[in-house]
Amino acid sequence: MFNLDVRSVILIAGIMSLMMGVVLFFLKRNYPPSIKGLGEWAAAPMVLFAASLLFAARGAIPALFSILLANLMLFAGTSLLYFGTQRFFGLKPSIKLWSGLAFAALLPLAWFAVIEPHHGARVAAIGAFMTLLALAHARLILVCGPRTFSTYFAGTALLMLAVSQALRFASSFDLPASDGIFDNSSPGQGTFVSIYAFAILTATIGMVLMATDRLRGELEHLATHDSLTGALNRRALIEACALELARCRRNYQVMALLVMDLDHFKAINDTHGHQTGDRVLVDFAGRVGHVLRQPDRFGRFGGEEFVVLLPETSLAEARVVAERIRAEVASGHKDLPACTVSIGVAVSGPDDLEVDAIVARADAAMYRAKEGGRNRVETALE
Ligand code: GH3
Ligand code: MG
Ligand code: MG
Repeated sequence: MFNLDVRSVILIAGIMSLMMGVVLFFLKRNYPPSIKGLGEWAAAPMVLFAASLLFAARGAIPALFSILLANLMLFAGTSLLYFGTQRFFGLKPSIKLWSGLAFAALLPLAWFAVIEPHHGARVAAIGAFMTLLALAHARLILVCGPRTFSTYFAGTALLMLAVSQALRFASSFDLPASDGIFDNSSPGQGTFVSIYAFAILTATIGMVLMATDRLRGELEHLATHDSLTGALNRRALIEACALELARCRRNYQVMALLVMDLDHFKAINDTHGHQTGDRVLVDFAGRVGHVLRQPDRFGRFGGEEFVVLLPETSLAEARVVAERIRAEVASGHKDLPACTVSIGVAVSGPDDLEVDAIVARADAAMYRAKEGGRNRVETALE
């Protein structure tokens, strides 16, 4: 059986931590502030690096530093990593709870390091704290995280850390008092240190991936949504319509489009100001969102013109939805100026190869609604 040199493993783990800290620090600098927790995630590996230097110096410096301060920094670093994940998921870091638990583990650690040295008792205290923290961390990521590779990557690494630390805790009862982590009489301890190093490296790589996933999601959202109303933008809605049209043609189904234009919107801007106009647009989008079902898509085509895609919907059914939207908008809002909407409805036909043709028919129907006095729904002429 090969023997691991524990001191080297600890130093290598520390250097790997430092490298991950640098990577996370650059993410913190370059990623938007909307991605929370990167500061804690960057600081944690730096603290763990400092801890590894203290651990590795065992024998050369007083036990107070190489045992007590080293473990204090180990607890601080791993807790900081957890606080970063809490902030990443929009939660408040539970600093008091984990400081309390760390203190509860450090007290016996101090006793069994300085007053009555006992290796097994120290390992028990460290193992207990680390198991609890790694379990809480793994649970948080696996429960709160989206079902993506990065979540499973980081979550599994922390679960592995929790299991190994629990085993370490269990092994502590067989450890002799006089032994130390660098003694060859307990080679299993080297394995635990190696698993810890590997798990922290894997978990921090998982965190980099999680942050990158989050950034990609945010950029995708920016590229496909209108920033004022949160509705899809024109390009994304046309894309969704084109996909749906292709599906309809394959399955001999119809889809419906509603073209909606707010009535006399220029007058709302002129009378109440552009900002109030914006609030009316946001309110309108919210109301439409309430009326629609899950597969329906809603987009802003520009200005005060919006389009709704209703998959697998006939002209008669689409008219009912349009009428519901019209009535909902006309019902008004106590803090906003009154506003109405004119809606044109069209459905796809067997000859429609392009979305534009359906939009044009719905648009023509909408203009008939305007001509007919506004605050109306008109269906396209077949
Ligand atoms: P109609 O009933 O015929 O549709 O009349 P209208 O006044 O709604 O139509 P018009 O096209 O003349 O005016 C549209 C107005 O919408 C003009 C423009 O300033 C306003 N608008 C476009 N985009 C925005 C926006 O993002 N915010 C605000 N507040 N107003 C906008
Ligand atoms: Mg208008
Ligand atoms: Mg308009």
